[in-house]
Amino acid sequence: MKPRNVFDVAVVGAGMVGSACALALARQGLRVALVEERAPPVWNIADEVDLRVVALAPSSVALFARLGVWAAIRDARAGAYRRMHVWDSGNGAAIDFDAADGGAAELGFIVENKLIQQTLWHALQNEAGVSLRCPARVVATEDDGAARTLRLDDDGRLVARLVVAADGASSPLRQMLDIGAGGHVYDQHALVAHVRTERPHEDTAWQRFLPGGTLAFLPLADGRCSIVWSLPPHECRRLREIEETAFLQELGCAFDFRLGPVLSTSARAEFPLRLLLAERYIAPRFALIGDAAHQVHPLAGQGVNLGLRDVDALVDAAAGAAGRDPGAVTALRRYERRRRSDNTISAWGMDGINRLFRSEFEPLVFARGLGLRAVNALSPLKQLIVRHAAGR
Ligand SMILES: Cc1cc2nc3c(=O)[nH]c(=O)nc-3n(C[C@H](O)[C@H](O)[C@H](O)COP(=O)(O)OP(=O)(O)OC[C@H]3O[C@@H](n4cnc5c(N)ncnc54)[C@H](O)[C@@H]3O)c2cc1C
Repeated sequence: MKPRNVFDVAVVGAGMVGSACALALARQGLRVALVEERAPPVWNIADEVDLRVVALAPSSVALFARLGVWAAIRDARAGAYRRMHVWDSGNGAAIDFDAADGGAAELGFIVENKLIQQTLWHALQNEAGVSLRCPARVVATEDDGAARTLRLDDDGRLVARLVVAADGASSPLRQMLDIGAGGHVYDQHALVAHVRTERPHEDTAWQRFLPGGTLAFLPLADGRCSIVWSLPPHECRRLREIEETAFLQELGCAFDFRLGPVLSTSARAEFPLRLLLAERYIAPRFALIGDAAHQVHPLAGQGVNLGLRDVDALVDAAAGAAGRDPGAVTALRRYERRRRSDNTISAWGMDGINRLFRSEFEPLVFARGLGLRAVNALSPLKQLIVRHAAGR
C-alpha cells in the first residue's frame, strides 16, 4: 500500500487539457492526483450558452470518445459543423471545405468549454484511480531524482514520479521550473458573442479575412452563431462598448451580410491574444502540456486541440515507459519529440496566415487571391489541409 499522498502522476490544472490528461492516465492503471485551485465551473442546460466555446477537431472528439465522455457532451449541447467557407475581403477569393469530400459526417463540433470541463470533472469524481485536490494551489515544487514533490497552499504535500503542468498560459509551474517562453503579444484582441442572423447558419463555419483580423461565425446547436472577431485592441473595445443596434450593423457589414442582417446579440466579451511557446516541454520528472506549453492565435480554432494531442502523446509515452515509470527521462523525451515541433509549426503557421491576410499591399492581396483559388481547385491539397486540421 502506498501512502495517501504518493502518486504515479500529479496533474496540475483541471482545465479541459489537464482533466482529460488525468482521466486518460488513470485509465492506464496509474495512480493520479489532480490539483486545481478553483472549483470547476457549473454547466446547466437551462443556462444561456456560455460565451467561451471551442471548435473541437475529430482528434479531440476521438479522445473524448475513448475516455467515455463524448456521448454526454454531444447529447447535452454540441453544434456540428459540416462545411467551412473562408473568404478574403481584399480580393473576394474563397475556399470551401466539406466533410463529405473526406467521407466524414462532420468537420468538428462547437462546444462550450464549461460543458467539457464539467463532464470531465464528473467522470474524474467516479474514477477510482484519481484523487482530486480542489481547491488547492501549488506554491512550490522540488525533485529528488526519484520523484517530485508539490507543496500546496493548504500546507498539503504530494509526491509523484511525474508532475504534469496543465496550469494554463501563465503557468506558475513553468515559472517555478525556470522554463523560458518565447513569442509575442498580438496587436489584436478577440471579441466574442453569440448572435442570431436572419438566415440559418447551414451547419457551416464561416470565416472572413479582414485587414484588422479574422471574423468567424461558428454554428451553435441552438441555431445562433458564436462569433470570434480578432481586431486591434482599441477597435475591439469600441465594438464591445457601442450600443447594440450600431454593433449589429457593423458586424453584419464586416461579415458582408452573408447570412442576412445580424438580428440580436448576447453580451460581448474581449480576450487579449498572444503567441507563446515554452523553450522546452520537460524537466526532471516534469512535463508541460496545453496552453502551459503553447498558446496560439485562435484563427484556426486549434488551441485546445493541440493540447489534447499533447495528452495523447504524453499518456502514450508515460504509460508505455520502461519499468512503468511515467517520469522516466526516455518517456519524457519521447513526448517532447512528438509534440514540440508540431505545436511550433502550428503556432507560427497561424501567425503567418494572420500576417499574410492582414496585409493590404496590392501585389500580395492579388497573390493571396490566386493562391486561395488554386488551393480551392485542388481537391487532394484541400483533403490534406482537412486531415491536418482534424489531427489525422
Ligand atoms: C477567443 C478564444 C477562442 C478560442 N477558440 C478555440 C477553438 O475554437 N478551438 C480550440 O481548440 N481552442 C480555442 N481557444 C483556445 C482554448 O480556449 C485554450 O487552448 C484552452 O482553453 C486551454 O486549456 P488548458 O486546459 O490548457 O488551460 P486552462 O483552461 O487555462 O486551465 C488551466 C487550469 O489550471 C489551474 N491552475 C493554474 N495555476 C494553478 C496552480 N498553481 N495550482 C492549481 N491549479 C492551477 C487554473 O485554475 C485552470 O483551471 C480559444 C481561445 C480564445 C481566447
